[in-house]
Amino acid sequence: MATYIFGHTTPDSDSIVGAISLSYLKNQLGEDTIPARQGEINPETAFILDKFDHEAPELKTEFAGEDVYLVDFSDLAQAPKDIKEANILGIVDHHKLGDITTDAPLECWIRPVGCSNTIIKQMFDYYGIEIPKKIAGMMMCAILSDTVIFKSPTCTKEDTKACKELAKIAGIEDYKALGMEMFIVKSDVLSATPRELVTRDFKDFNMNGNLIGVGQLEVVDLSVFDTMKADLMEDMKKLKEEGGRHSVLLLLTDIMKVGSQLLVVSDEPEKIENAFNIKLDSNSEAWLEGVMSRKKQIIPFLEKQF
Ligand code: MG
Ligand code: MG
Ligand code: MG
Repeated sequence: MATYIFGHTTPDSDSIVGAISLSYLKNQLGEDTIPARQGEINPETAFILDKFDHEAPELKTEFAGEDVYLVDFSDLAQAPKDIKEANILGIVDHHKLGDITTDAPLECWIRPVGCSNTIIKQMFDYYGIEIPKKIAGMMMCAILSDTVIFKSPTCTKEDTKACKELAKIAGIEDYKALGMEMFIVKSDVLSATPRELVTRDFKDFNMNGNLIGVGQLEVVDLSVFDTMKADLMEDMKKLKEEGGRHSVLLLLTDIMKVGSQLLVVSDEPEKIENAFNIKLDSNSEAWLEGVMSRKKQIIPFLEKQF
């Protein structure tokens, strides 16, 4: 029986590429694994797959009775509904330790770096397995995406080192230019519906019994949202009701200005204000200077409030 490898719900480039790269490594080590994905491919990931001419992992959302490896998450809220009936063989991740538990010992590679693919690169090195050119290129892009071309406070020396080594293997000299090209693709938000945008990079967290959803859109210029904010807010309200959520937050991150406009719909907006020591304006918005990272600059402060 093959083992499935997959990342979190509403997969990002790290989750998709991580499934592909870890599956390749595991297969080289003699295991029988298949990369999978829990949801649709976003435009940035489509750009990466197209650039390196690689097919998307298969779409699969049920894993009861299957052996699995998880990449880029360890939170139940981001897992398949039947994860408790799957046999988790291992986790490769760079987030806070979540609430997934196992019945048997497992292989864990969890490190506080900027990207799961940085850890997977270290696994390739550890086992002395060569990385194919195309996979190296995709892993490099995943690191550039997760670290926002090294600008995110989550970026470590290990990420820049792994990225440079992968660029070399992939034969790409100007990897920062490729990263920028990727973020320009990501900034094309005008053709998408409000729901597509709010949920494009969206994660739910269970904070002491309160379901908090946090979306993020990273763009090169925030003005693209000027005419859209009211519609985004309207959809966030709907998403909050539909999911029985306590709050829905949306971070509109300007990667050039290095900061985020925070949009909030919440049962207790004062908790959000306290978390970040801010006052929301009449549109329920606030500017968060220097904030780029959901996992490092948003979630820990929300957790403290709940
Ligand atoms: Mg991710
Ligand atoms: Mg990641
Ligand atoms: Mg991200």
